[in-house]
Amino acid sequence: MTKWHMLAELLSLFFMLLMFLYYYEKNAVLSFRRRVFNWIFGFSISSVILDLICVHTIGNFSQLPSWLNFILNTAYFILIVLVCSMIALYLFDLMLEHVYDKKCYKRYVFGLVILNTGFLCAALSNVYTKVLFYFSPEGRYVRGPLNRLGYGIMAAELVMVLTCYWRNRAAVPPKVVRVIRTLPPIAAVLTCFQIAYPQILLNGTITAVAILILYSNFQTCQIERDYLTHLGNRKSFLNDISAKIESGQAFQIVSVSLKRFNEINENYDHAFGDALLFTVGKWLGEVSAEGSAYRVSNVSFAAVFPYYDDGQAEKNAENIYERFEGTWRCKGAICRLTACTCDLIWNGQACTPKLIMEYLETMPEMGRLEGSEWIRFNERVAARIRRVKHLEAILRSSIKEDRFTIVLQPLYDCKNKGFSCGEALVRLKDYDGTPVPAGEFIPIAERMGLIDEISWAVFEKVCRFLSSHRDLPLESISVNFSMQQFVDPRLLENIENCMKKYKIPFDRIKIEITERVIIQDLDFVKQIMGKMNEKGLGFYLDDFGSGYSNIAVLMQLPFEYVKLDKSVLNYSLDEENVRKAAYHMLSFFHNIGFKVVCEGIETEKQAKTITELGADFIQGFYYARPMEEEAFADFISRRSVQPK
Ligand code: C2E
Ligand code: MG
Ligand code: MG
Repeated sequence: MTKWHMLAELLSLFFMLLMFLYYYEKNAVLSFRRRVFNWIFGFSISSVILDLICVHTIGNFSQLPSWLNFILNTAYFILIVLVCSMIALYLFDLMLEHVYDKKCYKRYVFGLVILNTGFLCAALSNVYTKVLFYFSPEGRYVRGPLNRLGYGIMAAELVMVLTCYWRNRAAVPPKVVRVIRTLPPIAAVLTCFQIAYPQILLNGTITAVAILILYSNFQTCQIERDYLTHLGNRKSFLNDISAKIESGQAFQIVSVSLKRFNEINENYDHAFGDALLFTVGKWLGEVSAEGSAYRVSNVSFAAVFPYYDDGQAEKNAENIYERFEGTWRCKGAICRLTACTCDLIWNGQACTPKLIMEYLETMPEMGRLEGSEWIRFNERVAARIRRVKHLEAILRSSIKEDRFTIVLQPLYDCKNKGFSCGEALVRLKDYDGTPVPAGEFIPIAERMGLIDEISWAVFEKVCRFLSSHRDLPLESISVNFSMQQFVDPRLLENIENCMKKYKIPFDRIKIEITERVIIQDLDFVKQIMGKMNEKGLGFYLDDFGSGYSNIAVLMQLPFEYVKLDKSVLNYSLDEENVRKAAYHMLSFFHNIGFKVVCEGIETEKQAKTITELGADFIQGFYYARPMEEEAFADFISRRSVQPK
């Protein structure tokens, strides 16, 4: 009787079970590839168990019905070939991921089907033909003439894998190349060993090695996978689009940036927010059989589709856009998400994955500015990105070279009919002399973390101006402060140092802050404003009505003035109900002790109406535009009124 050596099979089974324990994830999003990997695991473990059972049943042939032995051995033969075919299928899928001409893929799959069907027929008919194996009357396992047919099938599949690799090598991602270079030679050596020493059972070892190599490939995917949604993360997104660009396969990216997601976390809780992100990720992961989905940042997702034609691309984008118009069901709750959908097609343009990432990050920002929830990549977006990069460079060098200047805009005092204060506004010119609007470069400076330095430069310039114009009949100049300055613990110290350096009394400078700043950290802002107020510094609430208005928050803070944003007065003041609303708003602020500055007044009619409605101050081009320091000093000395 044949003596089988089973130690290698037992160890392989142990290792495979161990790997399965680490690999298994209950909630994993099942992509086709992951499904195939599951089959590989399942079939491999079953085949090794079956192999061990077969050894046992052959050893006890006389005590068991011979048909059972036949069935078990036939099943083992079929399973082991199936495992190899699944591994080959997995490799085809990896190698051809970035090859859109699926004809080639289909041909290889068809080849696998033919080989397996042929083998299945041989295995099922073996009971009559005895070509694979049979049992001698005394219960000995005898190899048939085609006993090694399974190895022949494996060899054929190996040839198919290598041919596929060779033909598509330009499109095969590097980590797949690594697998192709290691797996087939190891499998071939072990198979030769198995053929030479058939009594040492090694089939389980071969599949365990294959799983280990593919698993370590999966393991790298873990680093490239998002822990929450199980989708690919930013790294795998960049890797995948790099591979597509390198292999010249056109693709479409539809990205979705969720807006105001913190409201979801606040209204429900963070666990709900996580569950909702998972739901969104799952939907995107399953949106199309051909697309792959990624979570590229906390609240941004991207789906990458092969690009065939504009019609299909339009459908992909529309499908995603429309889904985000609808509601989401999660943990029994129904909620809505606001999102900006961006659509970008790469069809051979010269650009890097990094640049594509920049496009994707800039497009939602443009969408926000334009109030649009669907942005399609075009030359305008590319131009905007070039402009932002250009401004970033100018901002960096302008800080080093102290190129920022200030202009001062007088505020008209409606009661005293003259000018007693002004606002300092930063100015920057491009190197060719063209002015860069503050509204354009300030958000960029904020994003780059440069606003702090710019604002302090402005503050110092204002102090210097006040110190060299001590006799001007000027009550105060206000300076705009941004969010980042307000979270700086040395804020008060810096203000004090600067004002002491130029010997400026605290009440000659006022600070303008927007509600956006306050909302970030109310308690901290309250505390810091209190301290500054004690020193004598006054505050303007800037841009009231531009979108963050919260009266309850406002009333807790020591503001002296409220500046109504120009957008508030954009509505026609000719209309009775708009006038009424403006009147009540102004009365309300007066009643709670604020003075009101109306910004953006450009015409005589506007100025007249808003004065009649009770505005205390007017800041607008109608009365005075922002002007250079000396022009402002001259203007104030001529047109100032001392408040009565
Ligand atoms: P803001 O603080 O609300 O400043 C008023 C803006 O309205 C200024 O634009 C001013 O030129 C403009 N303006 C004044 N009167 C009129 C008018 O009648 N019609 C129109 N259409 N506009 C008028 P600017 O200088 O472009 O500044 C835009 C924004 O940039 C400012 O809005 C402020 O938020 C920010 N900013 C300006 N300078 C600084 C600064 O030194 N530091 C910080 N952090 N932000 C600044
Ligand atoms: Mg302002
Ligand atoms: Mg303003």
